Amino acid sequence: MRVFTAILFIVMLVFFVYAGSRIARVDAMKCSGCGDCVAVCPVDAIKIVRHRAVVDPEKCINCGLCANACPRQAIRMTEK
Ligand code: SF4
Ligand code: SF4
Repeated sequence: MRVFTAILFIVMLVFFVYAGSRIARVDAMKCSGCGDCVAVCPVDAIKIVRHRAVVDPEKCINCGLCANACPRQAIRMTEK
């Protein structure tokens, strides 16, 4: 049981370190302002400003859901 707990802890640590090193970036040239990314963001980190998506880096938890939801591939998860 202790080994399982230790492995679980290490996996979670690696995940959080990896996720914390990424950030969602919007390509304004590709974005249509459709709002699909806004709808899926679990922490309300995206707003539509002047018909373009804008990510608040302070709120973003780097989950990648917005990048998967974007129909125009306008969001990429990149290194900070
Ligand atoms: S889903 Fe894509 S195209 Fe639509 S607002 Fe978000 S970034 Fe722009
Ligand atoms: S990566 Fe996740 S938390 Fe960050 S803006 Fe996209 S959906 Fe929101």
